[in-house]
Amino acid sequence: MKLVTFLRDNYQSIGVLVSGTTTLIDIQQLKGQFPSSMIDFVSLGDAGLDHLKEALTDAPNEAVLNLADVELLAPIPVPRKNIMCVGRNYHEHAKEFHDSGFDATAGKTAVPDDPIIFTKAPTSVIGPKASIPSHLDPTNSVDYEGELGVVIGNGGRGILKQDAFQHVYGYTVINDLTARNLQHKHKQWFIGKSLDGFCPMGPTLLTAGEVDDVGSLNLITAVNGEIRQDASVSDLIFDIPTLIETISAGITLEPGDIIATGTPVGVGIGFEPPVFLKTGDVVRVTIEPIGSLENTVL
Ligand code: MG
Repeated sequence: MKLVTFLRDNYQSIGVLVSGTTTLIDIQQLKGQFPSSMIDFVSLGDAGLDHLKEALTDAPNEAVLNLADVELLAPIPVPRKNIMCVGRNYHEHAKEFHDSGFDATAGKTAVPDDPIIFTKAPTSVIGPKASIPSHLDPTNSVDYEGELGVVIGNGGRGILKQDAFQHVYGYTVINDLTARNLQHKHKQWFIGKSLDGFCPMGPTLLTAGEVDDVGSLNLITAVNGEIRQDASVSDLIFDIPTLIETISAGITLEPGDIIATGTPVGVGIGFEPPVFLKTGDVVRVTIEPIGSLENTVL
């Protein structure tokens, strides 16, 4: 199922996109009680999805909307904690970042021995079509990072690799925007990664049951239509089970938590000289069948 969070006038709800159409079903208008917040709905787990599937078979007319009449927000517009992210998690990207000179934490080797985990503040999240406030980076070094986002369903601590996918609720698309000079200057990546609006997310949350093999998904990032990143998720250095096992070893994961799994080769600092985003640029990150996340630089 493709879930979205949408706004219509001042009304916010969760919608289900009807496959292959521009039709959206507002789940709060269905029979039965459904929450308006995606985190609350995700917290219901499979029981919530089963209840929803049943209610969708008898959707009243007032539940049916057109995508053109709503504004899509990020599927989880206000995460309950920081978005957890993975640095240098595709081989060729690890090399380009290592060679760029922008990685103040760089070791001797480009490929890390263990996952590099950092976070982005919840206030960095914006939705599909929202503008990227590049003026918040005084160093004019905004760069894109197209990424697959994993949304946690059942929470837990000490989750083992072999059980990890039982804790994955679904997938979304994330642009891990980065102010490169701030990332380098402050050593720790938090400031350079967490500026307001620097975490576009969406357009949908695709439930895990729709994805047979997450490694078969392909990620494409285009800037003004020019393809910059084109990679298979199977090229991850540390796969999703490894990331979940690593993070949850001592940190409790909760429903609705988000892990951005890393970006492939092709970011702006991989160019010689680096090419940063500028006002008016349109960045589009596509992972089908999740959809395309498109944002314009303000
Ligand atoms: Mg990243």
